[in-house]
Amino acid sequence: MLPTGKLLIGGQAVDGSNGVIRAINASTGAVVEPGFGGATLADLDRACSLAWSAFDFYRETSPEKRAQFLETIANYILDIGDPLIERCMIETGLPQGRLLGERGRTIGQLRMFADVVRNGDYIGARIDPAQPERKPLPRADLRLRHIGVGPVAVFGASNFPLAFSVAGGDTASALAAGCPVIVKVHSAHPGTSELVGRAVQRAVQDCGLPEGTFSLLFDSGREIGQGLVKDHRIKAAGFTGSRGGGTALMKLAAARPEPIPVYAEMSSINPVLLFPGALKNRAEGVASMFVQSLALGAGQFCTNPGLVLGVDGPDLDRFIAAASVALGETPAQTMLTPGIHKVYKDSIERTVSHPEVKTVARGVEPETPGQARAALFVTTAEAFRNHPDLQEEIFGASSLVVRCPDLTSVLDLIETLEGQLTAALHLDDSDHDEARRFLPALERRVGRILVNGFGTGVEVGHAMVHGGPFPSTADGRSTSVGSLAIERFLRPVSYQDLPEALLPDALKSANPFGLTRRIDGKLQLGIAVARENPGL
Ligand code: NAP
Repeated sequence: MLPTGKLLIGGQAVDGSNGVIRAINASTGAVVEPGFGGATLADLDRACSLAWSAFDFYRETSPEKRAQFLETIANYILDIGDPLIERCMIETGLPQGRLLGERGRTIGQLRMFADVVRNGDYIGARIDPAQPERKPLPRADLRLRHIGVGPVAVFGASNFPLAFSVAGGDTASALAAGCPVIVKVHSAHPGTSELVGRAVQRAVQDCGLPEGTFSLLFDSGREIGQGLVKDHRIKAAGFTGSRGGGTALMKLAAARPEPIPVYAEMSSINPVLLFPGALKNRAEGVASMFVQSLALGAGQFCTNPGLVLGVDGPDLDRFIAAASVALGETPAQTMLTPGIHKVYKDSIERTVSHPEVKTVARGVEPETPGQARAALFVTTAEAFRNHPDLQEEIFGASSLVVRCPDLTSVLDLIETLEGQLTAALHLDDSDHDEARRFLPALERRVGRILVNGFGTGVEVGHAMVHGGPFPSTADGRSTSVGSLAIERFLRPVSYQDLPEALLPDALKSANPFGLTRRIDGKLQLGIAVARENPGL
């Protein structure tokens, strides 16, 4: 299976006529065929119109049918086999092992959401039965369920070409919620996107769903991406990328006659806190783990540890010395796109020449033009406080260690930080009392607090939060990874005194889907829960 360069609009593969997007070999800079025709405004209108027509049918599909659809997508992505991995390696420069793992995560996410849909808890069904005899006033029969918000625009991420792109977390959670999806392809991996898009398109057809359930558009400029967010038939957007891109889309969405949410995951420097006990006992061990996390995937992870805070002294010196040695041996790695590479190089040059920052280590010199060297910098707490530019994310393998006079000044610096995805605490038992003091400030600023580890390697599960206050994400009340992500694309609807014949199946008294429901405030377990927990 090879990419053809065509847009996928509903069930059709269509030649785009609005300019051409060309894939670039991330390792060599060479252009890779074929060209991908950009969508026109007419193509955008057709995709939105089909998505809107599909919405009412698709959102009423039974849990079983929708779960089977998600599983079919997963199977069809696997069926593409090696050509998908090979194309993706060319377009992103990411190694085969990483992409095989990422494909596994993509498949796993789709299957997890199939389980979530089958389980039915996300519907959040509640029934407050009528109380006609209640005094002084009778109570009406009230029933509540959640429905999909409507068609969702998804902007794939450059750094997760499979797990956060065409059939990645945003798409899987939106489809699970009952929302048709239109993907605006990331220009860094158009061939990979088309191959995955065709798998989703085939699953739509084979599962007997309306063709508008899924479309995929290439954008040769900004017109289609922005047009999607502005279109009245789109009711939410998912985005992963730069702060500039995310905030531009948030503004457009807020300026619509009917504003919509944009769930944008943007910039985060993920502070690492080194507590005295841990530093004293194992500065070198923590430094080694830190450099591994920093260099993973050329540092192109949103959870990359870009900031280290520790109390100045001989133990922090040991950490810096060990990290410098490990980082100095770190090979240069190919970055995802020439654009991302240029932004990284420019940011590193700016930091190297920053008057308040010392460069303590650089990785091995690059061998090819697309490769980047890791970097480690050191500054003081005072300089960090006085120079807000030092808080800006450098997307790549770069980190800044801040020497703080004491733990209170570390806590003060935490209070100055913008919202973050993660904070990693390195501590021993002797540090617990101090660490406890930090938790309230960290809870206010980050989405995930972890101990003696690093934020890279995000588990896809039920208790994961991959989100955080602005600017790490546009809306810190949600997550883009894990089963809770489905809630971004749901809306509650209440039904008062509807006759049984008019109620949606999820709320019918006979409970035909066997859902867990809250009846008059008390949880009544459904079939799936009873099956999973025979002892209950
Ligand atoms: P990006 O430039 O923000 O692009 C992300 C997506 O949004 C792309 O599809 C892009 O279109 C589109 N886009 C960007 N600006 C737009 C605008 N004003 N209007 C409409 N659409 C817009 O991000 P990127 O290319 O993935 O990476 C660039 C930088 O983003 C990196 O250097 C890094 O700083 C940051 N980044 C952060 C994370 C993170 O998780 N924190 C992840 C990835 C990237 P095109 O495809 O046409 O460009």
